[in-house]
Amino acid sequence: MRLQDKVAIVTGSGSGLGKAIVKRLAEEGASVVVADINAEAVATVVGELEKAGRTAVGFTVDVRDRSQLKELMATTAGKFGRIDILVNNAGVTRHRPFLTMNDEDWNIVLAVDLKGVFFCVQAVAEYMIKQRYGKIVNISSASGNGGASHATAGSAAGNANYAAAKAGVIQLTKTLATELGPHGINVNSVAPGFILTPMTSTSRTQQEVEEHIEVRKKSTVLKRVGKPEDIANSVLFLVSDEASFISGQLLRVDGGRTDRM
Ligand code: NAP
Repeated sequence: MRLQDKVAIVTGSGSGLGKAIVKRLAEEGASVVVADINAEAVATVVGELEKAGRTAVGFTVDVRDRSQLKELMATTAGKFGRIDILVNNAGVTRHRPFLTMNDEDWNIVLAVDLKGVFFCVQAVAEYMIKQRYGKIVNISSASGNGGASHATAGSAAGNANYAAAKAGVIQLTKTLATELGPHGINVNSVAPGFILTPMTSTSRTQQEVEEHIEVRKKSTVLKRVGKPEDIANSVLFLVSDEASFISGQLLRVDGGRTDRM
């Protein structure tokens, strides 16, 4: 067990990649907090984890709300005595061609996908600093790392808001690694390629999903799209002590995307 006695919070873990991540960390012995805006999803995932014999609690939280995050951290530390791992995974998309993108599309994506990371790390930092130990992983995206825009890959929409937020996550990670490193905290980011989840399937028609998968398969050297477990395993590595000398890095888990190699 690589995470025995560790305590981990995963935001957005009611669905998709976050759910795979929280399950993988729990499998390795971590006590986990399923933190998501969707209360029903939180209860379902906690139920599944408990059924599998894991230690899990749920917390319904909006990463845009500092006071809720403060409560999330205090409740977690109160219950388990510490917070070792934070995975900032919650995210939303509002894909739209740039010329028709409105303020609301821009604001919600920047608020959840970028500002939410800022808020979560500020909320957890005091606990990790006190322990002189912490592992933070921020989920970025191939879209924030030079991957071809969604407008060119089997989908009519553009993603300027999302690409800007996810690029911001990469640079935020580097600055956080610099400022928190002296306190014994490692901060890294993971940039997933395309993985079929509720986020990537519900923002497209079925035909667009199929076209997008074909385009994405062709644009990786491994000729396949990713699985949630691919991301979960990469996060597990970065939060484990096997990665204790790694900080400020971006791990691209995208099958070798040729559009940014
Ligand atoms: P997903 O299936 O939609 O899961 C995201 C979860 O975050 C959902 O449960 C969602 O709840 C929750 N959430 C949304 N807003 C929130 C908020 N304000 N506070 C707390 N939780 C919130 O998406 P996913 O595909 O697993 O994506 C997970 C992360 O990976 C995101 O950051 C995404 O940008 C990134 N990513 C995904 C891919 C991919 O191909 N799937 C590729 C690159 C990066 P609701 O469902 O109620 O909104």
